[in-house]
Amino acid sequence: MKQILVLATTNKGKTKELKDRLQSYPIEIKNLSDFGPIPEVIEDGETFDDNAYKKASFISRILGYPALADDSGLCVAALGGAPGVYSARYAGENATDQDNVDKLLDAMKNEENRKAAFECVISIAVPTGAALTYEGRCEGVLAREPAGNNGFGYDPLFFFPELNKTFAQLSMDEKARVSHRGKALQEITREMDKILDWIDIQMSRIITEPGCK
Ligand code: IMP
Repeated sequence: MKQILVLATTNKGKTKELKDRLQSYPIEIKNLSDFGPIPEVIEDGETFDDNAYKKASFISRILGYPALADDSGLCVAALGGAPGVYSARYAGENATDQDNVDKLLDAMKNEENRKAAFECVISIAVPTGAALTYEGRCEGVLAREPAGNNGFGYDPLFFFPELNKTFAQLSMDEKARVSHRGKALQEITREMDKILDWIDIQMSRIITEPGCK
């Protein structure tokens, strides 16, 4: 029987991307939509690592399967690393991508240092709480006005000098090759055989080791 790996997301895009990349491995990918209602994970960590681990271990404990979660965001040098873990809600709890882009443009309007980096942490956890961590980072500069229609979030502002385009001007394939998330995923696919062995060992411990009396 194939080992199940649960993606701690309901996002169809993220699920498809991972399913595509992992299709040649003996693993069955599910996401949260394949299960009943699950309590929400509060993403209140101080780092991407905290939040990714929190999501992966919470979902793994609840469902009893290994789980994979990611957390990512944009870190701007002139803003001391902000918006960072607050990237999704930079302009407020229910902020749209446009609200966040507008707020960032305003915060940076008099700033000459435009250096910024996208960061991503992916955590793969098992129900005991043990976890593996993968990271990806991509450096760029903030444009003075949005350009491009692809992608999401801060993509129209994130200018990537190597390709002389903003992330919103890249195709999905181009972005996957160079982005923070793409790099973390590349590392996971390179290590997938070892990850599957690790999961097997961790899961067999849960089944065979006696509990506390
Ligand atoms: P999440 O980790 O997918 O929840 O992303 C958190 C937030 O970071 C998103 O809502 C975006 O605002 C921002 N973000 C993360 N990755 C990207 C990206 O690849 N492009 C643009 N914005 C991103």
